[in-house]
Amino acid sequence: MNSVLIHTCCAHCAAYTAQHWREQGYQASGFWYNPNIHPFMEHQSRLEAIKKLAPEISLPFTVSEGYEMPEYFRRVAGHETDHCRCCFEMRLTRTAEVAHRMGIESFTTTLLISPHQKHELIKEIGEKIAKEKGVNFLYADLRKRYSDSRHITKPMDLYRQQYCGCLYSEWERYTEPEHK
Ligand code: SF4
Repeated sequence: MNSVLIHTCCAHCAAYTAQHWREQGYQASGFWYNPNIHPFMEHQSRLEAIKKLAPEISLPFTVSEGYEMPEYFRRVAGHETDHCRCCFEMRLTRTAEVAHRMGIESFTTTLLISPHQKHELIKEIGEKIAKEKGVNFLYADLRKRYSDSRHITKPMDLYRQQYCGCLYSEWERYTEPEHK
């Protein structure tokens, strides 16, 4: 059976994404690597939520060690207007590398289900990293299933975030509510 390592940004986006790739015939595993989530306790709340979800949907789940927030800010420094590109590259590169190490042929990301993300940029970066790392990038536009994913997690009473993740998005969320 083909296998896929799914980079998971949060429990609510992971629920339907895992189901989708299973329905396509893939053996799915989840992977957590989100140094873009600030501050640390917000990161922990989202991680705890997905750790609760994973056994509920029988999703094998790997958590990247450590919290590489300093590296996130090092990469963004001088590229502040393009912070999402730095963020996607960092997270998807690590996912592809871990997939390769684990002998998993493909990688993808739950970010592809969110209508709040820069969808075309995620696709572009995923495809670029696939070429660089020699691991397939699985692309699907799942944005129409965003509410289905939230429907799956609703009865589980999991922590639900109020902004995308980084300090930039938190600032925008509370000063320009239409952004996030
Ligand atoms: S807005 Fe979201 S995707 Fe963009 S850099 Fe911040 S956390 Fe990453």
